[in-house]
Amino acid sequence: MSRVAFIGLGHMGGPMAANLLKAGHAVQVFDLVAAAVEQAVAQGAHAAAHAAEAVEGADVVISMLPASRHVEGLYLGEGGLLPHIAAGALVIDCSTIAPATAQKVAKAAAQRGLAMLDAPVSGGTAGAAAGTLTFIVGGEAETLERARPILSAMGKNVFHVGGSGAGQVAKLCNNMALGVIMAVTGEALALGAAHGLDPKVLSQMMAVSTGRSWATEICNPWPGVLENAPASRGYSGGFGNDLMLKDLGLAAEAAMGVGASIPLGELARNLYALNSKAGRGGLDFSSVVKLVAPES
Ligand code: NAD
Repeated sequence: MSRVAFIGLGHMGGPMAANLLKAGHAVQVFDLVAAAVEQAVAQGAHAAAHAAEAVEGADVVISMLPASRHVEGLYLGEGGLLPHIAAGALVIDCSTIAPATAQKVAKAAAQRGLAMLDAPVSGGTAGAAAGTLTFIVGGEAETLERARPILSAMGKNVFHVGGSGAGQVAKLCNNMALGVIMAVTGEALALGAAHGLDPKVLSQMMAVSTGRSWATEICNPWPGVLENAPASRGYSGGFGNDLMLKDLGLAAEAAMGVGASIPLGELARNLYALNSKAGRGGLDFSSVVKLVAPES
């Protein structure tokens, strides 16, 4: 069993750390929010007063933070973590961040003799709680083999997609497709509803037809269609609109870096920006349907 430092106990990190504890690992945690730390302690984690204390004596360091600036600040900022991590420890960042930032932090880690993976996840808060996440990994194959027992305590599928930063590129590709599909699913349901169709029946039909997707079957944007979807609880929980907006911004940056065209990805980014401006930045991203169906 490993001694794991877990930093960032939000919607995703909290349940991921809980699954490591369930698998028998010793977990030292840190988050800026005291309540998140207390919850992890109630599940058996050891609380650290700061991030540097959390990584003391750890074999594995995992971070699950909101965005690039948080990850860069944690590892490379003033009083950054890298010098505090024991030689030979494995560092895994599971946050969704810019591929260039992932590469920069991994390079600095390598200069200190630390192997690092970018391992963003897919599967949402439900997947984090159930331990069924998909890990999308960039880094050395042998580093991934060392990480595999830890990742399998939190997830079901592990994809090695390339070298450092590749995990982030693949994750952005997935989320760009998701962002577009969610927005157009909302439009389709709104169009049907405007013609007097029942969005539930329309969704059931689409779920077994060619318009099927995660957005119709698992996270349907129309309230009342799926009991457990964020839409049926006022769009609370789930994957925040502003996190989707961040990911689409990262996809746009990544596209510009290589001259790729992403017309629908850019359009979707603007829709999620408008949804944020309308005051729904903290709600689940499926609330984007409200732009075309305010009455939904
Ligand atoms: P969140 O905002 O709920 O959690 C982030 C946590 O990090 C917070 O508890 C915050 O206090 C903590 N934090 C920030 N800076 C810190 C620091 N310097 N030291 C310690 N703690 C710090 O976000 P989340 O929903 O858990 O998402 C985390 C990452 O996972 C994001 O990059 C997101 O894009 C990605 N992601 C989220 C989902 C989802 O469904 N929520 C799904 C897949 C991927």
